[in-house]
Amino acid sequence: MMMLPITIPPAIFKKYDDIVKQFLWEGKKARITLSKLCTPKERGGLGLPDPRLYGISFEIAKLAKYWKPTENRLDWMDIENELCSPFSPKEKLSQRNDTTNPILVHSKEIWAKVHQMYRLSHYVQPYASLWSNPAIHVGKGPVYWKQWHSRDICTIGDLYKNGQFMSYEELTGQFKLEGKQHFWRYLQIRDCLKSRIGNPSENYIMEYMKMPLERCTASQFYKLTNLLVSGESTNVKLLWQRDLETNVAQEKWLDVLAGCGKYVREAWGKFKQYKIIHRLYHTPVRLHTMKLLNDNKCWKCKTGLGTLLHCIWKCTLVAPFWVKVVDFLSEWSGVTVPLTPAMCLLGDRSQIPNASKRTFSVIMVGLVTASRVILRHWKTVVSPSLKDWLDAMVETASYVVCMSMYVRMYESMLCRLKGNTEDGMSLWEHFWNYTKTDKNSGPRD
Ligand SMILES: [Zn+2]
Repeated sequence: MMMLPITIPPAIFKKYDDIVKQFLWEGKKARITLSKLCTPKERGGLGLPDPRLYGISFEIAKLAKYWKPTENRLDWMDIENELCSPFSPKEKLSQRNDTTNPILVHSKEIWAKVHQMYRLSHYVQPYASLWSNPAIHVGKGPVYWKQWHSRDICTIGDLYKNGQFMSYEELTGQFKLEGKQHFWRYLQIRDCLKSRIGNPSENYIMEYMKMPLERCTASQFYKLTNLLVSGESTNVKLLWQRDLETNVAQEKWLDVLAGCGKYVREAWGKFKQYKIIHRLYHTPVRLHTMKLLNDNKCWKCKTGLGTLLHCIWKCTLVAPFWVKVVDFLSEWSGVTVPLTPAMCLLGDRSQIPNASKRTFSVIMVGLVTASRVILRHWKTVVSPSLKDWLDAMVETASYVVCMSMYVRMYESMLCRLKGNTEDGMSLWEHFWNYTKTDKNSGPRD
C-alpha cells in the first residue's frame, strides 16, 4: 500500500497507529509517543518503522529516476513526461498547481512535504523550475519565457555557474540566445533571483537524488531522512540551554545549525559535528534510562553523572585536554579561542567575531578533531592526549595542504594562460607561506 503512487488517506495511517498502540500498551496509556518510537535507535528512539515516512520514501525513490533519465528508461516515465509537457516532470514539481492528475498531484505533494521536513522551500532550490514557479515573480507573477525554455534554460541552477549568477554574455553564449531583446529579461530575472533566493546551495535531498540509481532506494532515503529530521531540534536546543546554563537565542541557534558542517570540509568532520550538536551520542545516563546499563556514572572518572556535557566536556579526565587544545589553537592563530562549550562543541562563531573565515575554519577543524579524539575513547577510561590530537590534525592538515596545492596549481595555470604570470607567482608565494605556517604551527614561546 505504501508503494502506491497516490495519496493515502490519513485515516488509514491513524488506524495503523491505533493497532500499534493497542499492541504495545495493551490498551493502557502510552508511555512513549509514537513519533519517539519511530526515531532511529542512534537518536535514542526505538527504530519502529514509520509508515508515513516509508510512503514518502517510495515516492522520492521514484522521483529520483527523473534525475537520471538516461540510466534506465521506464514506460511509466513516458506517460508522465507526456502529462507534464512542455515541461519535464522534474520541472513540474516546483510549478504552481495546475494539474488534477492524481499521480502528479501526489508527487508534488510529497515533494513539497519532504522539503518542509528539511525546512527548505522546494520553490527556491537550484533544481526548481524557473517557469510558472510561484516564488519567481517577474512583474506581476510567475512567468514562462518559451524561447528561453526551448534553449534548455529550465531551472534556477541553470542560471548559475560555479555558484555565481551568470553574466549576460555567459548566459547568451552558453544557451545561444540571439538578439538584444534578452537583456531586459536577464536583468529582471537576475533581480528577482538575487532578492528572493540568493545563491542556491546543496542540500540533503539533492545529495540523495544525485546518488547512483542502485543506491537511490526507498530504504536509503528513509534511513537518511529518519536520522536527519526525526529529532526534535527544539528539544535539542532546550537540552543545550540547560547544559550551557544560559538562554540560547533562536537566531543564534539557527546559526549554529546552519554553520554545522560549513567550515569543516571533510565528510567525517561534518558528520561528527552534526552528531555532537544533535546529541546523538550514547551516554551512560541515556543507556541507563534505556535499561541497558546498570548505573549512570561516567565511564572515565566513575563518579560524575554521565551526561553528554560531563563526558565530552566537564569530566576531570577530559577537561584538561580541552585546555591544551584551546591554548594551542589560540597561540597558533593569534585569536583567543574561548574555552566554552558553546565555542568548542557548538562552533558558535559569534564567540570569535574577529577571526577571518579561513582562520575560523582551521579553528573549527581543530575543535571538531578534539571531539573526535574524545569520542574515539568514548567508553574507555583513557584520557585523550594532545599528541592524539596533533596526530589527527597532521592527517587533516596534509589533506588540506594537498587540496590547496592542487587548487593553486590550477589557478596559476589559468593565470599563465591569460598571460598574467604575476598573479600566478604571488599565489604560489602565498601558498608556500601558508604551508610553512602550517608546518611550524607548534606553540610558540
Ligand atoms: Zn567523568
